[in-house]
Amino acid sequence: MSTQQLPTKRQHVLDAMKTAHQTLQSVNEGANASYIPYLASVPSNLFGIALAFTDGEILEVGDTRYDFAMESISKVFTLACVLEEMDKETFKSKIGSNASSEPFNSVIDLELHDEHPYNPFDNAGAIATVGLIGAASPEERWNKIIGTYNRFAGRELTVNDAVYRSESDTNAHNRGISWLLKSSGSLQVDPDHACDIYTRQCSVAITCRDLAIMGGTLANSGIHPVTGKRVIKEENVPPILAEMMMNGMYENTGNWLYSAGLPGKSGVGGGILAIVPGICALAAFAPPLDVHGNSVRGQKAGIFLSEILGWNLFKK
Ligand code: GLU
Repeated sequence: MSTQQLPTKRQHVLDAMKTAHQTLQSVNEGANASYIPYLASVPSNLFGIALAFTDGEILEVGDTRYDFAMESISKVFTLACVLEEMDKETFKSKIGSNASSEPFNSVIDLELHDEHPYNPFDNAGAIATVGLIGAASPEERWNKIIGTYNRFAGRELTVNDAVYRSESDTNAHNRGISWLLKSSGSLQVDPDHACDIYTRQCSVAITCRDLAIMGGTLANSGIHPVTGKRVIKEENVPPILAEMMMNGMYENTGNWLYSAGLPGKSGVGGGILAIVPGICALAAFAPPLDVHGNSVRGQKAGIFLSEILGWNLFKK
């Protein structure tokens, strides 16, 4: 569903978004994720771009109101949830923070590091991160996660049950990762519960507009750009952006950074989030992915806008 944009004081930005959308709409490289059957059924031609500025203005072009699965973008916001409870040095000692050159669901980093997770955006690290949330029950743990997501979004988000079922039926590999984490002492909770909660967080439905607004808090030092409420501590924003910078697009992170110069995060649902600190968050949604699991059109849109609007952090 496309949306009608209100008049804006940032007409040049809206024009650039429209150009990006028009130019890139016909790019048909990549393919929907198919290892999660539901994701293969999402129309491949959907394409939306949304920006949320720190003053609360939202700009949207294309399919910005279509619900899609957060998938790995959820890892950003679960990290935010844990850092509210645990200082960043303790978190780093438990999960790690360094870049990985391995695919998102690889167990090679686990093997190379005594079955210890390597960073919070690989599946192993993300599942171990879920286990760090202080809670007496899986339900309490889940409520903390979704509560954090809701505060970032400024509305109540829900799990897409069809995605959740599709992913739960096919996530044997992630369950295996959870049990490896358990065997090395890196997971203090029931491995199947941790994997289930991780699967649920990946299945949360958001729109491209939601994603921009969620990122807007990270662009705005932890304060929600629309409600003006503090969502996370200011000191927790830099480590989150550092992780996005190092690991946000998996093995393509270097190529993305080389061109866009921005911290970003992708999900196999086709979403891309990039943060321009102090200015805005950029969200794009287009389901076909590159071989690493990143939206092809989403990355191109981010790179185009960063370049044309002078947002590359390394050019400042
Ligand atoms: N739920 C997906 C998985 O664990 C997330 C992967 C991604 O978005 O990169 O396989």
